[in-house]
Amino acid sequence: MNVFRRRTPGRSTLLSCLFILCMALIIASCESDKLSPTASEDEDLSRVASKLQEAGFDTSEGFRKFEDGYLVEYDMFLTEDMIDDLVESSKAPSASGREEHYRTNQLVIGTPRTLQIYMDAGFGSYMQSSFDAALARYNAQNLGLTFQRTTNSAAADISILSFYEVSNTLGFSAGFPTNGNPASPIRLNTYYYNNTSTRADATTVIAHEIGHAIGFRHTDYMNRAFSCGSGGNEGDAGVGANHIPGTPTAPSANSWMLACSNGTDRPFTSEDVTALTTVYPSRNIPAGTSAVYRYYSGSARDHFYTTNWGELGAGKDGYVLEGIAIFANTTQVAGSVPVYRYYSGNASDHFYTTSWSELGAGKDGYTYEGIAFYAFTSQVSGTAPVYRYYSGSDSDHFYTTNWAELGSGGSGYTYEGVGFYGYP
Ligand SMILES: [Zn+2]
Repeated sequence: MNVFRRRTPGRSTLLSCLFILCMALIIASCESDKLSPTASEDEDLSRVASKLQEAGFDTSEGFRKFEDGYLVEYDMFLTEDMIDDLVESSKAPSASGREEHYRTNQLVIGTPRTLQIYMDAGFGSYMQSSFDAALARYNAQNLGLTFQRTTNSAAADISILSFYEVSNTLGFSAGFPTNGNPASPIRLNTYYYNNTSTRADATTVIAHEIGHAIGFRHTDYMNRAFSCGSGGNEGDAGVGANHIPGTPTAPSANSWMLACSNGTDRPFTSEDVTALTTVYPSRNIPAGTSAVYRYYSGSARDHFYTTNWGELGAGKDGYVLEGIAIFANTTQVAGSVPVYRYYSGNASDHFYTTSWSELGAGKDGYTYEGIAFYAFTSQVSGTAPVYRYYSGSDSDHFYTTNWAELGSGGSGYTYEGVGFYGYP
C-alpha cells in the first residue's frame, strides 16, 4: 500500500502557502502522537527496515507500523509478505537513477485493459466528483489502461475506502501491483476528506494513490525535501525504482507523484504524461499475436519468457511476473522465424535464439525445449529490436525491448546484440 502525506510545515511552506492551510498543517502536526515503541516492536521495525532497504526503499523517514503492516515512504502500505516479494523482485537487473519519474518492478499487465474503480458511497458529492475528475485525467491520456467507475464494490479492481486518523497522512494505497493486478484498496483519511471538506488537492490525492496502485513511485523519492520541505536523505538508489526513459533528471516540479501535497491541485505535467504513456502505452496488438510474459527468479538468477500463461501464470516456483516483454506469433507467418528455447538446469538459465547453429538440438548443458514463438531477424513494420544480454556471473540471459534497462551493459550483464525483432 502507498500513503500520501501532507507536506510537513517548514519555513518555506509557511512563506508560500495560504495562511489557513498552514494553520491546518500545524494543528495536524501538533496533534499527532508518538507513542514509544516497545523493545520487540523496535526489533520488528529494524528487521523490516533492513528488508525494505534491500529492496531499494529509503526508511530514514516516513516509515512506521500501521495496522497489520507498515507505511513506507509515507503512503505505501505494505504487509511483510509484500515486502518479502519486493525484496525478491528487486534482484532483477534494472536501471536506476535519482529524482526522476519512477516505477516499480510490478505493473498492471494485460493491456489494453479496463480497470473498474469503486469509491465508497459514504464520501460526499465533492469527493465523488473529485473521483470522477481523477479518472477523467487518466482517461484523457489514452493509455493502455482505461479507468471506469463502478458502483459494484465486489467487482472493483481498485476500491477507494476511508479511514480516520489524526495525522499528516492524507491517504495511502495498498502497495504495488501484484500478479499483474492493481493494488487495492486505496484509503483516504476522513480527517481531511469528509463530507464538509472541499480541499483543492482532492483530485490529485486520488490520482496519486491510483498512481501507486498501478506501480508508480514518488517522483522525488530520493529527495523528498523537494516536495516535503524536509528530509531527502539520499540512500542508495534501489533497484525497486526504475527510472522511466524520457523523464527529466531534475526534480519534476508539480508532478502528481511528488511525495507530499502542498494542498493545491496538480494536474499531470508534460513530464507526468511522458511517464504514463511510456509505462502504459496505448497498445495496438497485432492480430494473431500473443503476449510473451516475462518472469524473473531472484534465487535462480534466471529470466524466463513464455507465451503460455499456464506455465507460471501470475508467478510461481520463485518466479515473479514482470510484465509483457513483447507480443509474438505462435504460428509462423510470412517473414518470421522460430525462436528456439533452451534450458540449462546447471546454469539455471533459459536461453532464446533464432539461430539453430548456436546450440542446435542442445549442447553445453542446454536442453532444447522447442519453439518459444516466432519473431523476425530484421525489423518489419510495428516491431522493435529485442536486445539480448548475458551475465556470466549469474548465468542469465536477458531480453528486453527497453534499451534504458541495461543499455550497452550493466549490473554484470554484457550486451550481445539484437536477439530478434518483436512487437513491443
Ligand atoms: Zn505517495
